Amino acid sequence: MIEENIKQVEDNIAKACERANRDRSEVTLICVSKTKPASMVEEAYKTGQRNFGENKVQEINDKYPILPDDIKWHLIGHLQRNKVKYIINKVHLIHSVDSIRLAEQIQHEAEKADKVMNILVQVNVANEDTKFGLQVSETEDVVREIAKMPNVHICGLMTIAPFTDDPETNRVFFRKLKQLSVDIKNKNIDNVSMDCLSMGMTGDYQVAIEEGATLVRVGTGIFGERIYNK
Ligand SMILES: *Cc1c(COP(=O)(O)O)cnc(C)c1O
Repeated sequence: MIEENIKQVEDNIAKACERANRDRSEVTLICVSKTKPASMVEEAYKTGQRNFGENKVQEINDKYPILPDDIKWHLIGHLQRNKVKYIINKVHLIHSVDSIRLAEQIQHEAEKADKVMNILVQVNVANEDTKFGLQVSETEDVVREIAKMPNVHICGLMTIAPFTDDPETNRVFFRKLKQLSVDIKNKNIDNVSMDCLSMGMTGDYQVAIEEGATLVRVGTGIFGERIYNK
């Protein structure tokens, strides 16, 4: 099932790239394995996938030691400052930096670990009360502050669009995030690159690619519905 799902998703990605006149290599598929067992990650890994996303520090810590070490782990969920130390040496990219205080903690831990941590700044483009992320209007100022931190590198922006049955309704938010990233890129801020745009999930990644996504985060479309119990 996973292999077939990945084929389908890969096919959809290729077609969206074609429609948008983009090269397939511009888009990275992140397989979102949250709540799913390591055996399912292995199945996806065997088909060639190397980028996996988790939204909980605990789950990355559980899976990391038992899975191949060439996996690139992406932390895509809200990150508490007291947990940064547990993932600083495990994750490839943190997608969900939404405050200067969190970035300061990442700076602190990255310095201790003698590394530069790559991050994305999360923006709440749709202005939903229920979502984390910065307001569009405050993003540039926050980016400028984080840019001063030598062990933190901003690679771009991330957003979680509203849950919807019609992906077209999210196009406006993807376009807005892309525009914001272009505006910030044009400011040429030291230690900031705006090459990454993490947007699009199972319901809307094809539209997100048409609007410029470079990282799409697909869970259900690969691993099936998630069951949250307890
Ligand atoms: C769970 C999750 C996803 C994947 O969602 P699907 O709709 O299952 O593809 C993507 N991004 C974030 C931040 C998530 O928490």
